[in-house]
Amino acid sequence: MQTILFRCPACGYRAQVIGGGDRDNEAKLKTMVCRSCKTVVDAVVARLVAGETEFGLPVDRWHAVAALCPHCNSGNLMPWPTARPCPRCEGEMDEE
Ligand SMILES: [Zn+2]
Ligand SMILES: [Zn+2]
Repeated sequence: MQTILFRCPACGYRAQVIGGGDRDNEAKLKTMVCRSCKTVVDAVVARLVAGETEFGLPVDRWHAVAALCPHCNSGNLMPWPTARPCPRCEGEMDEE
């Protein structure tokens, strides 16, 4: 999974995140803003769980989970807007 370093030119805050949505073999991630600790984070929004069809065939399904901040474990997250606002000072963050 590719991450991008974003930096706020106004206050110097940096975040290394995927900057959108991405998935691997087990989880779907989305870049979110944590309003509790004021950081930009990649949070797990869905997990792949093994199941089976009504005919007994194995099938994996995406199961939505409540996004939690990996830093402070808060659920007070919202999707990071495309304007890339800094969670500390509301300035616009740039890709490094
Ligand atoms: Zn800032
Ligand atoms: Zn947090």
